[in-house]
Amino acid sequence: MKTYQQFINGSLVDSHSKEWIEVENPYTGEIIARAPKGDDADAHAALDAAKKSQKAWAAQTAAYRAGYLKKMSELIRAHRVELATLLAQEQAKIIGLAQVEIDFTADYFEYYAGWARIYEGEIINSDRFNENIFLFRKPIGVVAGICPWNFPFFVMARKVAPALLTGCTIVLKPSSNTPCTTFEFAKLVATLDLPKGVLNFVSGSGKTLGNTLVTSPITDMVTLTGSVEAGQEIISASAKNVTKVSLELGGKAPAIVFADADIDIAVKGVTDSRVIYSGQVCNCAERCYVHKSIYDKFIDRLTASFKAVKYGDPFDAQTVYSSQIDKAQQSKIDEMVVRAKAAGAQVVTGGSKTTDKGKGYFYEPTIIVGAKQDSEIVQKEVFGPVLPVLPFSDYEEAIALANDCEYGLTSSVFTTNINTVMQSIKDLSFGETYVNREHFEGMQGFHAGWRKSGIGGADGKHGLMEYLQSQVAYIQF
Ligand code: NAD
Repeated sequence: MKTYQQFINGSLVDSHSKEWIEVENPYTGEIIARAPKGDDADAHAALDAAKKSQKAWAAQTAAYRAGYLKKMSELIRAHRVELATLLAQEQAKIIGLAQVEIDFTADYFEYYAGWARIYEGEIINSDRFNENIFLFRKPIGVVAGICPWNFPFFVMARKVAPALLTGCTIVLKPSSNTPCTTFEFAKLVATLDLPKGVLNFVSGSGKTLGNTLVTSPITDMVTLTGSVEAGQEIISASAKNVTKVSLELGGKAPAIVFADADIDIAVKGVTDSRVIYSGQVCNCAERCYVHKSIYDKFIDRLTASFKAVKYGDPFDAQTVYSSQIDKAQQSKIDEMVVRAKAAGAQVVTGGSKTTDKGKGYFYEPTIIVGAKQDSEIVQKEVFGPVLPVLPFSDYEEAIALANDCEYGLTSSVFTTNINTVMQSIKDLSFGETYVNREHFEGMQGFHAGWRKSGIGGADGKHGLMEYLQSQVAYIQF
């Protein structure tokens, strides 16, 4: 069993608390590692280190800082197989997807390194003669990054790369379910000559150590990826110091299948978007609306597609998905399906907890029909391989049903009519809309939720801007 240490001020150190988090491989049930259950003292030590190093780090050129991002990318590539194997073990992610996550993360560091010579300030026209107005972009300062368990390695990079490139320093807390790959990365970073304190990793509970990171007067910005509930707590906790928050929260993405859709593309797109990583992805298709003229045909085809999904061992190359992250998540999904049935919905396929020959906390690929638009299964995030499918009569009804939700992260449409594509992009109220494809964002886009799905966002130029604040100088000459 592996034992991890906190990474504070450039060193791997024992937690002040001497308490531990046990990390379970959800597929085998084995305890594969223990990580520190850090306390306030760990959070303060990491924040102090980040504060002390920030000015000197910001004073370096962006190209110098980018050099470290490139080195991090190279280290990840050199250890890609070990990291992917560990990722598959710590969260029951199928090995193919785990490898994609590791490689994508290496690309992500490299991508943001490329921004060093691109981001810039502005020169603004003045109302006065002989005056220049310059808008400078400066790093926000010390960042607290708080991560979920579903893409633990990638989301770590999504916060670390733009923070370090812009001259911020960062203290990052991984989820207690999945600290392993982050701490393996810490061990790799410890071999670099990165200035001490610039990057720190501390594990511990969200409500204690996480709360200390959020409420400390040292913290200039909190970036959370997690549930709406955690986002709401962080908004309240950050109010005292009026700390900037950037929140990437849950989703309940609608997939709309219009009458003229290519059914093969729609069935594949909706299946892929629902079952990837056992349905535990924020931008997964969580509800599907299908035109009534093709509804029966579509349900038949989608049912066959869901039945063909092979779930099991994450290291079997034929497996499409593996165990849910833990027993609690499996129970949460099942309870939602039970309540949906009690409210009058019917299960077309799936609908039960299961195992793979006694292993794991699996949930069957499940299609639900007959659910009401205002029911829990249609309105609340399931985060499992369960899809309610509802019919609609016309374009206006489809858009109204899709927009009728407190979340606003992603959405998709399936149609062969370009006018329907353009009109629905105009009418859908979501941060992302995918057309005739599965839900999966690119690093050069901007992943940002509307309504309760978040504040601010990540990736690309706009994700970088989250870590910068402006200073305007009025220069009379
Ligand atoms: P979670 O909210 O339970 O935990 C996320 C992190 O927040 C953990 O590290 C946790 O310890 C910490 N935390 C919780 N309460 C806190 C508090 N009061 N103060 C400080 N830290 C706190 O979420 P999870 O179960 O790990 O992840 C699943 C959720 O994340 C889903 O809702 C999913 O949709 C969402 N998610 C969103 C995106 C996105 O980009 N929008 C990406 C991935 C996951």
